[in-house]
Amino acid sequence: MRALCVLGSTGSIGVNTLDVVSRHPDQYKVIALSANSNVDVLYEQCIRHKPSYVVLSDKNGVTLLEQRLQSCPQLNIQILAGAESLEHIASLPEVDTVMAAIVGAAGLLPTIAAARQGKRILLANKEALVMSGQILLKEVAANKAELLPIDSEHNAIFQCMPAGYNAGTQSSVVRRILLTASGGPFRTKPLSEFDDITPEQAVAHPNWVMGRKISVDSATMMNKGLELIEACLLFEVPAEKVEVVLHPQSVIHSMVDYVDGSVLAQMGNPDMRIPIAHALGWPDRFDSGAEPLDIFKVERLDFEPLDEIRFPCLTLAFQAIQEGGNMPAVLNAANEIAVSSFLDRRIRYTDIVKVIAECMEKADRNSAENLELVLESDSQARELAQSYILNKL
Ligand code: NAD
Ligand code: MG
Repeated sequence: MRALCVLGSTGSIGVNTLDVVSRHPDQYKVIALSANSNVDVLYEQCIRHKPSYVVLSDKNGVTLLEQRLQSCPQLNIQILAGAESLEHIASLPEVDTVMAAIVGAAGLLPTIAAARQGKRILLANKEALVMSGQILLKEVAANKAELLPIDSEHNAIFQCMPAGYNAGTQSSVVRRILLTASGGPFRTKPLSEFDDITPEQAVAHPNWVMGRKISVDSATMMNKGLELIEACLLFEVPAEKVEVVLHPQSVIHSMVDYVDGSVLAQMGNPDMRIPIAHALGWPDRFDSGAEPLDIFKVERLDFEPLDEIRFPCLTLAFQAIQEGGNMPAVLNAANEIAVSSFLDRRIRYTDIVKVIAECMEKADRNSAENLELVLESDSQARELAQSYILNKL
């Protein structure tokens, strides 16, 4: 029986995780859940999964949840507030598996805490890895933690890699990683209409249902940029060995091209319960609840190179990983501010890339070799982004 903490349980990945877990009550018990402010969904999850701990970032939410749970005296749940409590539940001795599904930089410290306690981490929160780079991986190695990728592409690559893949001795057998991208909602939209793209249009992804921030990232292709950095870190390959391939059907979730000419691909319907179940069950496999792929209904598999004029955010991500140091953290922070400003209708869609480019140009450089430097870069980039939006756009 494994014991699970779900950070970000009320989000798209969190809800899908609990859906998979509820199919395997003999293999998983839920120890802790967390949400930013969604008391309604968290309350339902408490009734269904009976955790021992929940964390709400919003203090008012704690009072509301306490009131609602008064009618369920049979439940014994500690309700905690604030960011430090996320680190607490990710470190609990009774937890062995942590699903890191908070969106953005807010997930970094609890994910690091889980690594320091040697947990098995199921990593959806790509921003945490992009920001902290080697720091998170070093903590995982030093504390004998495990890191299993949930991002569908990285989970696919993980499945296509040799078991127990060791980059130090085996990286020469991998010619390329082919990172697939659906192209999002604007793959064929005339560029002349990009200035008028609304948040509603940007979050309407053709193939996947996801949270709002990653949906905008998928539209701008920054999601693929973050995933490029994520792939370089997880599989210890240089950026030149990762090729982004447009694949509009989202049937193949990524591929590994080996030196002998073999290309291994992982396929499936676009349903995040598949990579989630893979990681929850690993090294075994169990039912995810997803529709099986009907290969006869897959009429065609298309592949196209990526258009950098349409998707300039990807170029910035390439630059950030090539430059290294704190640049991925700067890229990530600037993008978080730009995307939330776009969703709040403070800037246009086409301003997102301008904000990120400006921050990357102006940010102080550092080695990002410890968390203090990473967090300093993160907050400086956020300030630069806010002031650019306020004064220049
Ligand atoms: P979401 O917006 O649906 O959910 C985010 C979760 O994080 C919610 O539970 C929310 O309450 C919590 N949260 C948000 N801000 C917080 C804060 N400041 N402090 C504490 N908790 C906070 O997002 P999502 O789509 O589930 O994505 C979660 C992560 O998984 C992201 O990093 C995303 O890039 C990654 N991911 C998502 C998908 C997907 O299909 N949704 C696929 C691959 C990777
Ligand atoms: Mg992905």
